[in-house]
Amino acid sequence: MSYKVTLLPGDGIGPEVAQAMKKCVDATGVKIAWEEVEVGEHAIKKYNTPLPKSVLDSIRKNKVAIKGPIVTPIGTGFRSVNVQLRQELDLFACVRPCKYYEGTKSPKPNLDLVIFRENTEDLYAGIEFDKGSKEAIKLIKEINQMQPKQIRDDAAISIKPISVTASRRIFKYAFDYAVKNNRKSIAAVHKANIMKFTDGLFLRVGREVAKEYEGKIAFQDVIVDNMCMQLVQKPELYDVLVLPNLYGDIVSDLCAGLVGGLGIAPGANIGDEIALFEPVHGSAPKYAGKNKVNPTATILSGVLMLRHLKEIKAADRLENAVKAILKEGKNVTYDLKANRDDPTAVGTQQMAEAICRKI
Ligand code: NAD
Repeated sequence: MSYKVTLLPGDGIGPEVAQAMKKCVDATGVKIAWEEVEVGEHAIKKYNTPLPKSVLDSIRKNKVAIKGPIVTPIGTGFRSVNVQLRQELDLFACVRPCKYYEGTKSPKPNLDLVIFRENTEDLYAGIEFDKGSKEAIKLIKEINQMQPKQIRDDAAISIKPISVTASRRIFKYAFDYAVKNNRKSIAAVHKANIMKFTDGLFLRVGREVAKEYEGKIAFQDVIVDNMCMQLVQKPELYDVLVLPNLYGDIVSDLCAGLVGGLGIAPGANIGDEIALFEPVHGSAPKYAGKNKVNPTATILSGVLMLRHLKEIKAADRLENAVKAILKEGKNVTYDLKANRDDPTAVGTQQMAEAICRKI
């Protein structure tokens, strides 16, 4: 069987890690016709937008896509293409496995947990009002009239919507995943002690959904700051975490650190019909074009994609090849060496080629 997959190389180190992933997925023998499209800074130069409609059309048609990271300017400039993709395509579940592989610099060997981050709302909804804008002034005036706590005139405003609909579907998805994948417990992560209505709603819905799985999957809830401390000290207590968008983003990087760094953390964005795979890391601009960074996160995102396509044997072969190379520790990039200046570190493409030889 052959598949059509939309490939978004992205920018910064994106094209390099995407090329490495493509090599490895092709080496499994699964026939993929890659439909390559431009996004981010490359697309702005050509199409005057970082996310051309043709990109969304391609993903909607093929239903499966994989991407490299895309730059998001900080504070000003265009809105995150990553967030837009997730919202436009309604990719409501961000799934990030955090799994230990021998040979990596993990402070917590044998860790194996999965993060489910709600992907469409929360403070990432993209509803923001700049300081001094007429919308911000109007909003501040109305809110100040409505209740006693006064917002200062020179404030910028971000809106944090958390709905029953979005909370229910992320919890349902995580519980169904836990049942199918033989997981034992789910922890809802929140700050409902302070944000009683938004995070409170998220937690309430989590508890309701948990009741439907009673006897199958254990459920607990943990406040996000406490969870960060617990993850650093005893992450083995946790199995599956479900979080709203912002905490999910932050805690994913923390967990990537626990299993050896951003260079090896893969991810998937899943909707009812469409799946978009990507590494957790960003575009690391200072390393762009240097053939230096670790391609593993994107290659393991390719493994997740192969599993999604039900190419289980190919996925297992590729994951085992990655495992073997990490365990040997010879043909690996600088970040996986004991000393970052180790002259025996290989480049991005060389590591991918070593993985291909093990498939
Ligand atoms: P980053 O993840 O790009 O890099 C942080 C550091 O992590 C790097 O300096 C590097 O030391 C390390 N790192 C990242 N990827 C690595 C790899 N494959 N191999 C080895 N080391 C690696 O985070 P940042 O610097 O905060 O963000 C840079 C840009 O990426 C920003 O514009 C940001 O918005 C964007 N970003 C995009 C995505 C995405 O496309 N999904 C995700 C996060 C950040």
